[in-house]
Amino acid sequence: MSNKHFCQGPTCHEQPTTDRFLKSRGVVRGRYAYANMDKTPNSWGYTATSGDRYFCSQRCKFEWLELNMENIEQGRPIEFIRHRRESQGYQKITTEHEGWGGRPYNTHSIQRVDNRTELD
Ligand SMILES: [Zn+2]
Repeated sequence: MSNKHFCQGPTCHEQPTTDRFLKSRGVVRGRYAYANMDKTPNSWGYTATSGDRYFCSQRCKFEWLELNMENIEQGRPIEFIRHRRESQGYQKITTEHEGWGGRPYNTHSIQRVDNRTELD
């Protein structure tokens, strides 16, 4: 994973999804970018776009544009994220539901410990 940039999305490290959650420390961490840094074709002949080399998802890409287009217009420097950001104070909540035919099933969500609820 070391040849990937960290996702540049402004709120990537604040989105409470299960894949970002690190249970041992109760934190939500920013993702790596979708593609590695290579600018050469992979074994299938596909070369990643620069968006894929700097962002994990379309959402993060669009949020970065929303935040930074004015900075670009005004010539203001934009911080390049070189360390893994994280947000503290999350836990995984498992909820049991009654499904079809009374068969129970579980859903999981990552929630802030301070009770601000966010569903995955
Ligand atoms: Zn991201």
